[in-house]
Amino acid sequence: MQQHPLLISSLIEHAARAHPDVPIISQMPDAAPHRCTYTDIDRRARQLAGALTALGVREGDRVGTLAWNGHRHLELFFGASGMGAVLHTVNPRLFPEQIEFIINHAEDQHLFFDIGFIALVEQLAPRLRSVKSLVAMAGRAQMPACSMRALLCYEELLAAQDAGYRWPRLDENAASSLCYTSGTTGNPKGVLYSHRSTVLHTMAVCMADSIGLSARDTLFIAAPMFHVNAWGTPYACAMVGAGMILPGSALDGASIYRSMCEEKATAALGVPTVWLALQQHVASQNRQPRQELRLNRVLIGGSAAPRAVVEVFERDFGVRVLHGWGMTETSPLASIGRPLRKHEDDSVEQRITLQTKQGRVPYGVEVKITDDAGNELPRDGAACGHLQVRGQWIASGYFRGEVGPIVDAEDWFDTGDIATIDADGYIQITDRAKDLIKSGGEWISSISLENAAVGHPSVAEAAVIAVAHPKWQERPLMIVVKKPGCEISKQQLLDHLSGQVAKWWLPDDIVFVAEIPHTATGKIQKMKLRERFGKTVWGDR
Ligand code: AMP
Repeated sequence: MQQHPLLISSLIEHAARAHPDVPIISQMPDAAPHRCTYTDIDRRARQLAGALTALGVREGDRVGTLAWNGHRHLELFFGASGMGAVLHTVNPRLFPEQIEFIINHAEDQHLFFDIGFIALVEQLAPRLRSVKSLVAMAGRAQMPACSMRALLCYEELLAAQDAGYRWPRLDENAASSLCYTSGTTGNPKGVLYSHRSTVLHTMAVCMADSIGLSARDTLFIAAPMFHVNAWGTPYACAMVGAGMILPGSALDGASIYRSMCEEKATAALGVPTVWLALQQHVASQNRQPRQELRLNRVLIGGSAAPRAVVEVFERDFGVRVLHGWGMTETSPLASIGRPLRKHEDDSVEQRITLQTKQGRVPYGVEVKITDDAGNELPRDGAACGHLQVRGQWIASGYFRGEVGPIVDAEDWFDTGDIATIDADGYIQITDRAKDLIKSGGEWISSISLENAAVGHPSVAEAAVIAVAHPKWQERPLMIVVKKPGCEISKQQLLDHLSGQVAKWWLPDDIVFVAEIPHTATGKIQKMKLRERFGKTVWGDR
């Protein structure tokens, strides 16, 4: 048999040849949607590869992005990785100091950014040690007025290149992209994907029992391209010739609904918060989604899909929910829920119950659950254990070997999630071992908040727990013990925190208590706090 490396460039080459006219629609800020095709993306990705070469980018160099979902970001997905660079998609929602850390740690050589992030880039630029040039993803007419040196114009870079660039035949095990986890303790850690792992993951995303993408689909990509590469779906669309709708930053319910209707989306993916916003919009405006939408399935992941969201999609939208689970370390798709043959006669209720589980593994991924001693637990849907995973697109370590080995001798990676697995292989995430808070699909570190609070001279101790929230899924609640004889108000503490953490990390409420419970080894007993405060209803306070 022939040997051809599995390369990201082969995806866009194939799309341009086999599906040249398929539309890619990008919502632009304050403008009509931008429309192009795979032919255009292929040509411009080659021009971009030529431009990167001209800038001196070599194989393995990191190219950073701070950008929403749009056609230029898509060109970077193919152009930067295709020419041998490592595409590093940075999450612009992080606190500026985290962004600075991540870009410096990755040693990004060039940073491409949406002009909406100009203020952030200006603030960060003096501290980005490795970055040689900053590229505004815009045409000359939209270039921001600013004093930064080394500011380049994306469209001018492309215009200087012809489309004759030929993709190099790279080693399929070479690095292609880099994403950082938000970091539970300590600093964020990078996960470096290879061309091979990406292409294999892409095949799994497309398979019938996964998203089941095809040339008849138009995929609405509401998962940001900086969140594990939009779950690999831009590659998947290119592989099968599906159309894409890239919504930019317009992720409110009204914008999503309008765009889905106008562009005839057939499938979509995103975190539960996005779908809550869409469903609230539809309900408040008395829309008729069954008549107005072509949508037939929605992939929900990033955090657990609430039953109510699944029900509304099924009953009011006539849309099938695919519930997926994964993490940055798993590329991310590691499991996805579709009914089996035996479920064909299930009632709607039974099917919805099945859909609230996180699904089954595709070929290429293996899972097991273990007890605290590492012994495998039964797959009976009842035993709860540490979810372990291994496979073709699962990380074997972090970028630069941070934190040392992360897999055991048999390659099992402990995900930090607690789960059950039933006899049919359906995984259900019941808890997370870590104490992070997931708000709107993004992590908030309880430890960072606690440390910031304890930095106030009147605070003796602080603990932060997640409390369920109707819109954001979870929001932080802070529990504080004051130092004896000291006074501090809720507002004073919030003011203190707001200088140190991102605004959306601020706790929704602060409760002052006389004492926080501890374990024998002096650790805060969050279980106890959850029992006492976990039923807080936001708005009550
Ligand atoms: P990240 O690496 O930021 O994507 O976060 C990965 C973590 O998100 C996992 O370890 C889970 O704790 C959580 N997660 C992702 N998808 C789901 C899901 N469908 N249900 C419950 N938790 C999820």
